[in-house]
Amino acid sequence: MKNAIVIGAGIGGLASAALLANRGFKVTVLEKNSAVGGKMNQISSNGYRFDTGPSLLTMPFLLEKLFKECGDDINNYFEFEELEPLCRYFYPDGTLFDNFSDRKKTVEQIQSFAPEDSENYSRFLDRSEQIYDGTADAFLFNPLYSVQDFLKVNPLNFLDIDAFSTVSEKVDEYVKSDYLRQFFKRFTTYNGSSPYLAPATLNVIPHVELNQGGYYVKGGLYKIAESLHKLAVSLGAEFTFNSEVSHIEVQSNVISGVKLDDGTTLKCDLLFSNSDATETIVKLLPDQSISKRTKTRQQNIEPSCSGFVLMLGCKKSWADLKHHNIFFSSNYKKEFTDIFKNKKLPEDPTIYVANTSYSDSEHAPENASNLFILINAPYLSETQNWDNISSSYSNFIIHELEKRGLKDLSDSIEFQKVITPEDFYNLYRSNKGSIYGTSSNNKFSAFVRPRNKVRKFKNLYLVGGSTHPGGGIPLVVQSAFNALELLERQVIG
Ligand SMILES: Cc1cc2nc3c(=O)[nH]c(=O)nc-3n(C[C@H](O)[C@H](O)[C@H](O)COP(=O)(O)OP(=O)(O)OC[C@H]3O[C@@H](n4cnc5c(N)ncnc54)[C@H](O)[C@@H]3O)c2cc1C
Repeated sequence: MKNAIVIGAGIGGLASAALLANRGFKVTVLEKNSAVGGKMNQISSNGYRFDTGPSLLTMPFLLEKLFKECGDDINNYFEFEELEPLCRYFYPDGTLFDNFSDRKKTVEQIQSFAPEDSENYSRFLDRSEQIYDGTADAFLFNPLYSVQDFLKVNPLNFLDIDAFSTVSEKVDEYVKSDYLRQFFKRFTTYNGSSPYLAPATLNVIPHVELNQGGYYVKGGLYKIAESLHKLAVSLGAEFTFNSEVSHIEVQSNVISGVKLDDGTTLKCDLLFSNSDATETIVKLLPDQSISKRTKTRQQNIEPSCSGFVLMLGCKKSWADLKHHNIFFSSNYKKEFTDIFKNKKLPEDPTIYVANTSYSDSEHAPENASNLFILINAPYLSETQNWDNISSSYSNFIIHELEKRGLKDLSDSIEFQKVITPEDFYNLYRSNKGSIYGTSSNNKFSAFVRPRNKVRKFKNLYLVGGSTHPGGGIPLVVQSAFNALELLERQVIG
């Protein structure tokens, strides 16, 4: 039985552990923290429970496939459901927009505040579906590693996937009202990028949520991490917590093992790293094992945005709040200039509020609310001092939400916790505190994202949001499928 080590128990590490154990490898997962899940984490205090990472599941068929490939059934582990509405949007002028998966219901809403776009909404979603059909097999479900993979990419398709305009330009072509323009541009943030920079191919994302469905996992999204852990353990994978890998050991072009921060060395035949690709290539691999050029190229890949998270346990509920809520900023372009160019927290941010107590009454005491608030934030740079910013920015956000209708919010708070970009780095070693891996802020991003096997080494595979095909739960699961496929090709070849 060959020994496989997996560094990290994020979603990519958990999915890899299950797939490898199912293929007969003796799997050891080494996780620096005391629990599984990585950025998919949770906290509970004073009767309030929060998911501290993802709150929305898309493309659940990839998780279903994972359980099935491992001889199990996702339904044995957790239930997921579509919410009604999918999300409530609050515009600065007081306009409310409830977005439903049922297009007819949504269009009825649009008729009241942007009648000029009631047909354009559907036209845009049809276009989004077309882009998905033209890109999914070529870019998502394809490791894009060897010639055989690139042969699956039809160059003619490039002409029809809007790779040469930005998300914002294409959205503006399709819809006329500022309301729907801001609405459709927002989906680019699911990949941690700016709609004013990212190629319009990313207009595929609205299809994934609005046509295919956006889901909530009953009990909280953390159930996904717990379930993948159970699955991997049931297949024989072993987990060691509080074990940070400090070095990868290399002999010639073969990984021979890893060294932990307490000095222990563990040997392996195969290494899957779910640590961020930049951490793995730049920090964990010995300098002499990989060229300076490769390290520099990796360091130069722009990370996705980070997040400023504020969790509030409030002894109050607000009739206007649904499960997912977005309070839009009044100058969307400026918001992204602040995040990606000025590298500072937006002065006028779009505020996402997940209020899971709306659907899961156990997540807060009676008549109380657990508000998980996320603001897109810059990735780490030398100019920021998060200790200084954190408390004043939290107060500013609380005040903004009060102005936008959450009356008496500050007086109702009985639990409060913040996670800054610096915390995201310290907790999960994500490159510069990024939360979705690498950004897609230029049209070549998909091609520079590290592949799921490092060519230089015989037995080093990379999985997770910083690798191909990208961040977010479903793509991270796909990265594990890709890595397995590349491993099997090598074994067979
Ligand atoms: C606030 C927030 C909101 C999000 N919202 C959504 C959403 O709604 N929907 C969605 O699909 N996605 C969302 N995402 C993105 C999603 O959470 C990530 O893409 C995904 O969870 C990343 O998984 P990963 O496999 O890359 O691993 P990570 O979560 O990055 O985990 C890596 C693991 O490796 C461990 N590790 C790192 N280095 C070492 C080392 N040297 N030794 C040992 N262990 C190590 C870390 O401790 C960690 O546990 C969100 C993320 C955040 C933070």
